[in-house]
Formats: sequence, C-alpha cells, structure tokens
Amino acid sequence: MTTPLLPETPLLDKANDLPLLKRTQQWAQVNSGTTNLDGLKTIAGYLVDAFAVLPGKIELVKPAPVNAVRSDGSLDQVQRGQHLLGIIRPDAPVRILLTGHMDTVFAADHPFQNLEWIEEGVLNGPGVADMKGGLSVMLGALQLLEQSDYSSRIGYDIMINSDEEVGSASSAALIEQCARNKAAALTYEPALPDGTLAGERGGSGNFSIIFTGKSAHAGRNPDEGRNALIAAADMALRLKAMHREGLSVNPAKIEGGGPNNAVPDHAILRVNFRPKSLPDQEEAQNTLDKLITIIASDHDVTVRCHGGFGRPPKPVDAQAQKLFHLVKSCGADLGLEINWRGTGGVCDGNNIAACGVPVVDTMGVRGGAIHSAEEFLITDSLIERTQLSALTIMRIAAKGGL
Ligand SMILES: [Zn+2]
Repeated sequence: MTTPLLPETPLLDKANDLPLLKRTQQWAQVNSGTTNLDGLKTIAGYLVDAFAVLPGKIELVKPAPVNAVRSDGSLDQVQRGQHLLGIIRPDAPVRILLTGHMDTVFAADHPFQNLEWIEEGVLNGPGVADMKGGLSVMLGALQLLEQSDYSSRIGYDIMINSDEEVGSASSAALIEQCARNKAAALTYEPALPDGTLAGERGGSGNFSIIFTGKSAHAGRNPDEGRNALIAAADMALRLKAMHREGLSVNPAKIEGGGPNNAVPDHAILRVNFRPKSLPDQEEAQNTLDKLITIIASDHDVTVRCHGGFGRPPKPVDAQAQKLFHLVKSCGADLGLEINWRGTGGVCDGNNIAACGVPVVDTMGVRGGAIHSAEEFLITDSLIERTQLSALTIMRIAAKGGL
C-alpha cells in the first residue's frame, strides 16, 4: 500500500515492511482470557519482547488487588495478570498516552481458540481484532515514529492491561496515573468494518448489594424474622423504577434465601447501571444511596453496598473534538474517510476521558463480531491504521500538542 504523496510518505510506506500480520497471528494464538493467568503471562512476555524495540523502559507491573463479593456475602480476592507499562522520553516537551489490553473474553476452556482465513484478507480468530491486531498497530505506529525526526519532540507512556474485558478494576489506578499530564490519548480498540470510530460512550457501574436480616422459624415465630430476600426483591423493583431514557438499570441476579421453613436472613442483589452522561451517573448514585437507607428502615435489615461506576460516561468535549478532527484530517491525507458515532459499549477510553484527557479509543484495526466466535480482522487495515496512527502522532509532535 502506497500512501498519497506527503512529506511523511517515505516514512509511512515503511509500514509495509513491519511484521504487523505475523505478530498479530502469533499473539492471537496464545489464549489470554482474563482468567487465564498462565496465558496472560505468556502473552505479556511476548509483548515485552516485541515492545523492547522502542527506546525506553518497558516493564510488567503488579495488578492492584481487587475484591469480589461471593454469594455468601464475604469478600474474595480476585487474581489478575500483570500489566505492561512503557515510559518513553518522560522529559519530552509533549507527551501522549497509548493504551490497549492483552486479555480477551475467551477463557482457556472456550471452544474458540484457532485462527482461520474466512476469505483472502479476512482472518477469523480469538482477539484478532479485539485487540491483538490493535496492539500490533500501536507498536507499528511507534516503530514508524521512532524512525522519524519527530520522535525527539514527543514522549509517551504505553499501558497494556490484563483485565480490560472485566472492567479494568486492577488497572484503573495505573490508567489514571498514566493519563496525568498527557496532551492526548490513543486506545487501540477495533474500529467498525467500514472504519467508523467510536465517539461518545455511556458509562457503566456494577454493584453488589448485601442484605442481612434475621432468621426465624416460618411456623413458630415468623414475625420475629427479618426477611432479607424480600428486602432484596423490593430493592430490585425500586431500582428498576429508576430506568429511563439516559439511564438503563438492570437488576440482574438475586442470590441467597434458604429452606422453606425459615425466614431468610441473607440475600445479595447484583445490578448494572448504564448512565449516558455524568449527571445521569450522579443521579443514579444519589438515588441508590437513598434507597439503601429506605430499604434498611422499611425492612429492618442491614444493607451494605459494594461496587461503583468503574466506567464513567465519556462525552466528546471540545478537546476530544479537536483530537477527532486531527485523526480525520490525517485520514483524509491518507485517502481514508474517517467518521465516528456514539456507542453503548464501554472501554478504557471511558476512564481516560474521566481524567480530562482527550482520547480516540478505536485506533485499532477494522474488524467485527468481537466477543464471538465469528470475530474477524480485515488484514488490509493493519497497514492502513498503522499509518493513520503514526501520522496522527507525528502531527501532534510537530505541533507540540493538539
Ligand atoms: Zn477490547
């Protein structure tokens, strides 16, 4: 693929010489489901080796501890893989953040493990688009940058986490730390098959609400009991009543209860909120807090709430618009039409935007059917998107910012 004649053309054409597809295939052949710690260790090793071609420090860092609420209400520490952190030219005049994830949604025992050509130029395989291909594009763009005179004018951090597909709880603090003082961020989630990028994104919050009542015999002294299951059910109904345009509320599961002859003293309600905007998120949190007090008092039970809005809504503000327009104009120079539209999905772009850093979070390959066994990568997009990213980064370097 030869790009239209730009000052950067000879440099961008070097994308043809990079092993973009080969390493995508190598990485996608390693199962790295979020819970597969062995697989994550293998892929993390491959990534460290591959990214070591960049000048700077590339290392693996420990995941932050994460607790999950077990069905009996106790807390369980969840095991996660290490995250990759790269710091290149920390003293450069302008610095950006590049992020991706090494985990996939396909567990070690999932039947979808192999790569297969659907047709020429379309590769089917776990994580080929989401996002082993995107990681290859990210590295490719940085390899082009490093061969250019622009490299001395820009520095960057690279963050590749191991838990994006389950909400990034063990990497959220790392993302926040990396986003600090960055002019912009690029995240390598896949674009749509026609190249459309994701614009604004709603947020997502998961909660486990634990109800503790008082057990009693259903025949002898039922009125002395405090029914935790009924309290949880009442809560589920009241939460669902908050559901409206701009705030989706999904009570998903009630666990607990006990035998028919006893008043149940334990229940857990799991619920997911999807606020469209930050005010929607605040309203959801306030109403949830109030309902907890009301339910505790109405049912005379103790209510404890775990969780939070791990993915805040990502609006497209003026700075983000500027970054989108930069990507669009780089695309136009390369003969690509770049558009974007809002989506209900969430990703690390949500967390980066919440730090006040403009982000385009679908700089990865063109592909589709992600999170399914039909996942595919359009292989022509590897070179195309590498050039798009490289040019975008070079323009940020040239301008000293957005
Ligand atoms: Zn992804």
